[in-house]
Amino acid sequence: CGIVGYIGNKDSKGILLNGLEKLEYRGYDSAGIATLNEDGVKLTKVKGRIAVLRESVDESVQATMGIGHTRWATHGVPSVMNAHPHQATSGRFTLVHNGVIENYQDLKKEYLSDVAFVSETDTEVIVQLIEKLYDRYQDTAEAFRQAMGLLKGSYAIAMIDAEDHDTLYVSKNKSPLLVGLGEGFNVVASDAMATLKETDQYLEIYDKEIVLVNRSFVEVQTLNGTVVDRKPYTAKIDA
Ligand code: GLU
Repeated sequence: CGIVGYIGNKDSKGILLNGLEKLEYRGYDSAGIATLNEDGVKLTKVKGRIAVLRESVDESVQATMGIGHTRWATHGVPSVMNAHPHQATSGRFTLVHNGVIENYQDLKKEYLSDVAFVSETDTEVIVQLIEKLYDRYQDTAEAFRQAMGLLKGSYAIAMIDAEDHDTLYVSKNKSPLLVGLGEGFNVVASDAMATLKETDQYLEIYDKEIVLVNRSFVEVQTLNGTVVDRKPYTAKIDA
């Protein structure tokens, strides 16, 4: 299972698909990508290989930001419906997740009893929860931070807000996730190997941190929104 994200000046599809291929060694049963452009979010999900995903992606859709995922099913069978990215009911928020949310039943009961879920995953609870908290706070970063504060378990997460064409929302806890820095673009990956073709400069993200990834800057925050200073390191290519 793995995550790749891109926000920059180039078309994102190829970068996401190549990155996911590099993460295939981690194992997976399904895969998907979501991109955002002026026409909105374009979602492509398949059961099976990245090669199948590549064939299914609409070549005509150009988008300079997107997120990709390979899934190793823990909650819900391997299927297109359960494959990531997952969306909140309105379609505004789109999210990929690696890991296991231990309290997803509790969160569902406490906050989301009125929501019609379309998948069997623990992951859908995260994105529905963010939408619910957005209704309360009217601020995506705040809703994202509040939601992360409620999660118990392991997660690496990357999210797109269809109303914000300049930010990938990222967080992690006990699952690997890195942010890679480029000139005019930035990337997100479970493993630097996925995006080494784009950059060798990476920021380590600590558990429960939030990262707002823009085209020209990256902001690391604590769960309460305090900005954290983090220096990049150079990822070495293993020959
Ligand atoms: N628990 C999530 C699911 O079953 C994510 C699994 C993964 O890490 O790929 O969909």
